[in-house]
Amino acid sequence: MRSSVTAIYPGSFDPITFGHLDIIERGCQLFGTVIVAVVTNPNKTPLFPSERRVEQIANSTAHLGNVEVDRFDGLTVDYAKAHNAKVLLRGLRVLSDFEMELQMAHTNKTLSATTETVFLAASNEYSFLSSSVVKEIARFGGSVDHLVPPSVAREIYHCYGQATAASIPTKHPGNL
Ligand code: ADP
Repeated sequence: MRSSVTAIYPGSFDPITFGHLDIIERGCQLFGTVIVAVVTNPNKTPLFPSERRVEQIANSTAHLGNVEVDRFDGLTVDYAKAHNAKVLLRGLRVLSDFEMELQMAHTNKTLSATTETVFLAASNEYSFLSSSVVKEIARFGGSVDHLVPPSVAREIYHCYGQATAASIPTKHPGNL
């Protein structure tokens, strides 16, 4: 049974991938509300402006009844408190994620003792998948149809000047 707890799922989502969507869908089974919060990070130059990323996520999660999408800057724990959210939801793919995520969770705990970070292990089929991998494939003209929702794929192809997807999906994105 789903709890009444609100969880914040913060990230760059530049762009949202099937890996992110998998975490959101599974989070929706566990929590009363999942707020996907797009970080507006001035240190990175994103492919898509944060407003566009919010739209992409909203369109991709329209089938879920308990998802909200927003964007924010500042401390995640402050955003969580402002939205009465007790949980920060994060995904773990590989060991390198774990080191950074654990450090972030500990840091957030020092800032807000009542905010818990909950990790969901990436599903096997998406454990290699990141927004960076998607952008790298698209930059070199490959298909990302198997990695992101169709409308997001179209926007990515547009950004990189591709009219349509390449015909053969790249099977081993770790070996670019
Ligand atoms: P950030 O800039 O915070 O790393 P991302 O948008 O890349 O933001 O990721 C947000 C969260 O989603 C992070 O916890 C990340 O580990 C997780 N995540 C990213 N890709 C996947 C995936 N393929 N499967 C599961 N979790 C993922």
